[in-house]
Amino acid sequence: MRDLLSAALRRGLTRRSLVTGVGAAAIAGVTARPAEAAPGGARQWGNGHRTRLILLGTSGGPPWWPGTTRAGTASAVSVGDRFYLVDAGHQAGRQIRDARLGDWSHDTDGPLNALRAIFLTHLHSDHTIDLDNVLIEGVSNGLQRVPEPVQVWGPGNRGALPPLFGSPPAPPVTAPDNPTPGTAEMIALMVRAFATDINDRVFDSRKPPPSALFSGHDVPIPERFLADPNGNPHPRMSPVPFYEDDRIRVSATLVQHAPVFPALAFRFDTDDGSVVFSGDTGPSDNLIELARGADILVHEVMDRAWAEQLFPQPRDTSAEARFHHLINAHTTIEQVGAIAEAAGVPTLVLNHLVPGNRPEHTWLRAQRGYSGKLVVGRDLDILGIGPLAR
Ligand SMILES: [Zn+2]
Ligand SMILES: [Zn+2]
Repeated sequence: MRDLLSAALRRGLTRRSLVTGVGAAAIAGVTARPAEAAPGGARQWGNGHRTRLILLGTSGGPPWWPGTTRAGTASAVSVGDRFYLVDAGHQAGRQIRDARLGDWSHDTDGPLNALRAIFLTHLHSDHTIDLDNVLIEGVSNGLQRVPEPVQVWGPGNRGALPPLFGSPPAPPVTAPDNPTPGTAEMIALMVRAFATDINDRVFDSRKPPPSALFSGHDVPIPERFLADPNGNPHPRMSPVPFYEDDRIRVSATLVQHAPVFPALAFRFDTDDGSVVFSGDTGPSDNLIELARGADILVHEVMDRAWAEQLFPQPRDTSAEARFHHLINAHTTIEQVGAIAEAAGVPTLVLNHLVPGNRPEHTWLRAQRGYSGKLVVGRDLDILGIGPLAR
């Protein structure tokens, strides 16, 4: 099942030894400009590029991780004067502000006037919790000026509750009439939840209604891959294109984050180059296929040693099961380099760091098995894709 990955792992481990540091010069394949200093240690390699990847938040969740300033997972791809949001973890709204995306010439007209679409890899709260901030408060932060509604894309309805993990009795089901809503349903429910605020803004302040500002959509994964969410949540498939405008084309594939389903990875193709977001996943051949030929792979990563501390030895059967349940849904530091190697991407960017408060050198071990450029993501890092803008 993991043929691509295991072959790459064998090749990579014999060819490449551990390196200890990556500086600005190592990103020369991504950008022609040196990094510029920015508050908080963010690196602005992408200044001057038409197409840029901006890391808004780099920690996985849902813990807020004491001792770090990392925001929850969120990224932006900007192409010229527009940008697209990938996931909306905690503080995504604030990070859009601090990244100076969009228009800041007026207190209330930006920055979301430049936002064209949002892509949610899956509906775990650490990827969606700031969505209401962006969409509902958005009406006073530039969303009221979008030329057409911002499309919010993400996975559809899971179709079944996840299996009960551990021993009965089963806990109560939340919202039993529809316990696993998909993205389109979630956006509609969000509007209902904020109806008091929305009706005040619309009737009193004469703001545009939500239907003029945003719309929810389920990524159209073919039905045959969605048939068995509990038995086969990660069927082998090829990428499915589903979104296109005059700046970007976006494709999706299913990844391995069971029992979360559907869990998606996205590829953005632009005239300047391509960037792929893994979402949350264990090693996935679907992802490797999606990332082939891309310029940048943004991949989640987990410190296995942290998971081992959560479930210290000796483990009973239950603790052993919970430990494997956790690490099988994610990718460890030791695994991620081989994945980037198998995909043949020249730059690997680590985000969704779990735990989010480990020192940066912890993650540099991801270079093992990978011959390209490794970037341990920091909030507000900017990477250029393709040539400098003329
Ligand atoms: Zn996550
Ligand atoms: Zn998740």
